Amino acid sequence: SNFNEFTPPKFPDLSTVKARLVWNENPYGPSSKASAAFQQAVTEGNHYSWGSLGKLVKKIAQKEGVETKNIMMGPGSSDLLEKTAMVYFRDGGNVISGDPCYMSLVHVAKASGGDWKPIKLTKDFQHDLDAMEAAIDSNTKLIYITNPNNPTATLTDTKKLYDFCDRVSDKVPIFIDEAYIELSAGGLKSSMAPLVAKGKNIFVARTFSKIYGMAGLRIGYMLGNEKSLEAINQITRGGMGITGPTIAAANASLDDVSFIEDCKSKITSAKKFTYKLLDDKGIKYLPSETNFILFPIEMDGDEFLDKIYEYKVVVRAFKFWDQNWCRVSMGTQEEMEYFAAAINKILV
Ligand code: PLP
Repeated sequence: SNFNEFTPPKFPDLSTVKARLVWNENPYGPSSKASAAFQQAVTEGNHYSWGSLGKLVKKIAQKEGVETKNIMMGPGSSDLLEKTAMVYFRDGGNVISGDPCYMSLVHVAKASGGDWKPIKLTKDFQHDLDAMEAAIDSNTKLIYITNPNNPTATLTDTKKLYDFCDRVSDKVPIFIDEAYIELSAGGLKSSMAPLVAKGKNIFVARTFSKIYGMAGLRIGYMLGNEKSLEAINQITRGGMGITGPTIAAANASLDDVSFIEDCKSKITSAKKFTYKLLDDKGIKYLPSETNFILFPIEMDGDEFLDKIYEYKVVVRAFKFWDQNWCRVSMGTQEEMEYFAAAINKILV
């Protein structure tokens, strides 16, 4: 596959954009409580934030049903994906992951000296767990699973994944990237976090960038086995890179349950609107368990982007499995209407 999440997309002038549907952001965030807490905390900016970080970690431990020693914080989940990759692959080895999947951990694994063993998703765009297990060899250091997956927006069957992780993590550690899990139909019921509580060698990464609408504030966390987290922390400390105001905003966000529910319901409406648009055009999109939708386009990706940019709408294009695809993030209703107008002109 030539799939590469890092291919630099070219953009029109972002300040003139009418529909920003390219980074899977949440157009409704941060919650007003989070913004207020952020601003309040700026006045304490002379202090390191270990105290408030400790409180946040306790709150996360309660929410996830794990102990505080099972949590590592970072400025976004990218930080944790990349740190894990640097520590695991500095002496080589290989990482097994779905293809296509989110490439941040894989790129850093390769840059650190590791190899990538891509495993094509199944026909229904789930992770091919049997093929992943069969691909394990004596050099395999980690299995990375984005669930729900990016860019396909698909969720792998929860029971199958749970059984796979429960069994296979005795052979090789497994990293589950759950950046979009709150947006899946079952929400946290599909999370693999209970396996961390069970003591398995599993990492589960979460972020405040998506459902919490805090992509620009940079905070995320990873749950994991105490020994594995210690090994990473020895080389590169988690938590040091997060600012006090962001910690305060995350704390306030976790308490603002109604904000999260409201975001999820608005994002669900945007998905329904987009499904109808694509259904009317006879385009077979992938049903989404995230805040974005992937659909095939019968046009070169760059050509499609040039066309849609003329309407001041920004999205992503991908190519994999000899097919061009458009990935559109769910924006506000107004943004989705700009998107629909552009699609109705371009894909006639
Ligand atoms: N993981 C997945 C699957 C993503 O799609 C993203 C961002 O788009 C990230 C991780 C990184 O998010 P952040 O570093 O903002 O937490």
